[in-house]
Amino acid sequence: MGTTFKAKLMDGKTLADRIMVETARKVDAIRQASHVTPTLATVLVGDDSASATYIRMKRKRCEQVGMRSVSVELPAGVTTEEVVDRIRKLAEDPAIHGILVQHPVPNPIDKRAVFEAIPLEKDVDGVTSATLGRTILGMPAFASCTPDGIMRLLREYQVELDGAHAVVIGRSPILGRPMASMLINAQATVTLCHSRTRSLPSIVRGADIVIAAVGKPRFVQGGWIKVGAVVIDAGYNPGNVGDVDFDGAIEPASLITPVPGGVGPMTIAALIEHTAYAAAQQLGVAL
Ligand code: NAP
Repeated sequence: MGTTFKAKLMDGKTLADRIMVETARKVDAIRQASHVTPTLATVLVGDDSASATYIRMKRKRCEQVGMRSVSVELPAGVTTEEVVDRIRKLAEDPAIHGILVQHPVPNPIDKRAVFEAIPLEKDVDGVTSATLGRTILGMPAFASCTPDGIMRLLREYQVELDGAHAVVIGRSPILGRPMASMLINAQATVTLCHSRTRSLPSIVRGADIVIAAVGKPRFVQGGWIKVGAVVIDAGYNPGNVGDVDFDGAIEPASLITPVPGGVGPMTIAALIEHTAYAAAQQLGVAL
C-alpha cells in the first residue's frame, strides 16, 4: 500500500508517574489499615557501579510513594551460600514484604540458587521459577517487572494483541520468556527469537508488534520494521541507547518507545506497585 508512518511515542514516563501516584495512595491505605509501612529489601552483591545506581534509583522511588527500603550490600567475594542465607533471613522477616536482588550478580555466584531463595509472595521482581511458571500459565503472580511494564504500556496505548503477530527478540528468563508468555496469554501469535534464529530480519518484517530485548545497541534496524508496526525497545545500553535503531524505526512504525523514557520507568513502577500489593497481601489488607 506504500502507507508511510512516523511513529507516535509511547510515553512510559508519564504512565509510570501515574502508577506511582496511585501506588502512593495504596501505600497510605495499607499504613492506615495495618500501621505497618510496606518495605522492600534490596540486595546488591559486589561493587558494580551501574547496579549500585539502579538500586539507589529503586530505593528513591520507594521513598517517593511512602514505602521503606532496606539495603543489603554484600562484598564481591561472598559465596552463593552466604547470599542464599541472607535472603532466607529476609524471607523470614515479617517486616520485609518484597525482596529484590539486583542483577547481574557476580559470576561465581549461582544466580538461580539465589533467586530461588526468594519466596513466591515476596518475589516482587518476578525472578523465581515459581513466578515464571505462574506467568506462563496465566496464574496470579508478581510477573517479571519489565514485561509486566510493557504489557501495561501496550494496554494504555490500546494496541490490539488478539490475533496479532508479536516477535520477541531475546529469551532471557526475566524478559524475553515471560514477555512471550504474557503476549500468548493476551491472544497474540508469538515468535520468540534468539541468537541462533535464522533470517531474523525477515521474521521481524512480518511482525505487527516487535519487542527488542537483545542487549545490543541499535541492533534492530529500521528496514526490518513493517509499516504500521508497534516497536517496543526494552534495551538499555550504555549512553542511553536502546536495542532498536530509533531514527530508522520511527519512520515505518506506528508506535515506538523512546530510550530513555519508555520501558525503563515502567519497569521501576511495576516493581514499586508489586511491593505495595505484596505488603497488602501479607498484612491482610484489601486494596
Ligand atoms: P540477556 O539475558 O543478555 O538476553 C539477551 C537475549 O538476546 C538472549 O536470549 C540472546 O540469545 C539474545 N540475543 C543475543 N544476540 C542476539 C542476536 N544476534 N540475534 C538475536 N538474539 C540475540 O539480556 P536481558 O537481561 O534479557 O536484557 C535484554 C536487554 O534489555 C538489555 O539491553 C538490557 O539492558 C535491557 N533490560 C532493560 C530493563 C529495563 O528496565 N529497561 C530491564 C532488564 C533488561 P541467546 O539466548 O541465544 O543467548
